[in-house]
Amino acid sequence: MTAKEKVYEWIEKNQDEVVGLLKKLIQVPSVNPYFDEEKTYMKEGDAQKVLREYLDEMGMETEFTYPNAEELASYEGKPGYYADHTFDDRPNLYGILRGTGGGKSMMLSGHIDVVQRGSKWTRDPFGAEIEEGRLYGRGAVDMKGGIAAMTAAVKAIRECGLKLKGDVSVGTVVDEEAGGMGTLALVAHGYRADGCLITEPTHLKIAPLCRGILWGKLTVEGRAGHIELKQGDFRTGGAVDAIDKAALYLEHFRRLNKEWSVTKEHKYLPIPCQLHVAQFEAGEYPTTFANRAVLTFNAQYLPSEKDENGLGSHVKAEIEEFVKQVALTDPWLKDNQPTIEWLIDADCGETLDDQPFFQTVCESAKEVNPESVVEGICCHTDMGWFCNVGIPTLNIGPGDPRLAHQADEFIEIEELVKCTKMIASILMDWCEVQTD
Ligand SMILES: [Zn+2]
Repeated sequence: MTAKEKVYEWIEKNQDEVVGLLKKLIQVPSVNPYFDEEKTYMKEGDAQKVLREYLDEMGMETEFTYPNAEELASYEGKPGYYADHTFDDRPNLYGILRGTGGGKSMMLSGHIDVVQRGSKWTRDPFGAEIEEGRLYGRGAVDMKGGIAAMTAAVKAIRECGLKLKGDVSVGTVVDEEAGGMGTLALVAHGYRADGCLITEPTHLKIAPLCRGILWGKLTVEGRAGHIELKQGDFRTGGAVDAIDKAALYLEHFRRLNKEWSVTKEHKYLPIPCQLHVAQFEAGEYPTTFANRAVLTFNAQYLPSEKDENGLGSHVKAEIEEFVKQVALTDPWLKDNQPTIEWLIDADCGETLDDQPFFQTVCESAKEVNPESVVEGICCHTDMGWFCNVGIPTLNIGPGDPRLAHQADEFIEIEELVKCTKMIASILMDWCEVQTD
């Protein structure tokens, strides 16, 4: 029996290891405090303690560090920095298992925080109930399942009496769901490795990139006036329907999206970057032309479009210019330029496929699960900062990402176990097994 077969067998025989750890993690609710939720469910610190104990028992050297806005002030204007976020009893956890030497190191990373429960649960969101091979609970998919799988993979290798040449570290962060200051602090603290896996749910796909996300609010001004009366030209005092003017943008955004669908695609992404209007608010009263229309949109950008701060300022400028050009085609808008307020800029990252880390991960993962294809993540993950400091990083984890943030979030135990094997396989190939 090869070393890998031994490890796979151990994982199969000891499924309770990964399932048990996941249950424990779900049962300590770690809702991010920036969500609308009861305080008693906001126990990121306690969840980190559960995991720390597990790492300690495995013989890892562990420590807690606390993100601190003052200490991180030099990151102002960079991804993940929020001057007003506080971290009492919200530690990052870092544990390291030293290798025997001569191998490449690996960091396994994930976020311990989860989003609020939300409504319409038919089970206890923190009960970790199992039924028909599914484990239910907030965070089962996003992403305590991934954390359990990556941690149990390290344990399996150890329990089989194997030693890795390279160091393996586990870094779990707080605050991902509210902007990513945990990962910023982890990286700023100086933790490094030759490769990093983030076990966000990818349904076992190998994700070498995530996209940047912009939220913007476009305000289009009109001029109110009685809707049932003849208004005449706006230059002589007539009303201007803000809904009508905003509709011009809806039309032109379709044109922009057509363009972006060829200029902003990526060979590893299933869809191109687009600008989608998500909210449309306008009008005050049924007898009045709308005074103002506000369109809140979501636009995505590629890692190759990042600016020198690692953010989307180039794409913001592109959208601002587009909005201006459209305004110039309309006599009213020309003199009443719409404005954009930027709400969110979530950063992105990418590891290119000519990197040895990329190739090792693909081969080792497919050895366990030949169906694992390479496909980027269309939304944000915390991989940006790892990439920014030169750590090749990939996302690979268990669970259907569409179930994240939903009521009755669940993970298939079979997938959880398979992912544990995949990560063990990757670790054994990247960090190399010590042979006597
Ligand atoms: Zn997540």
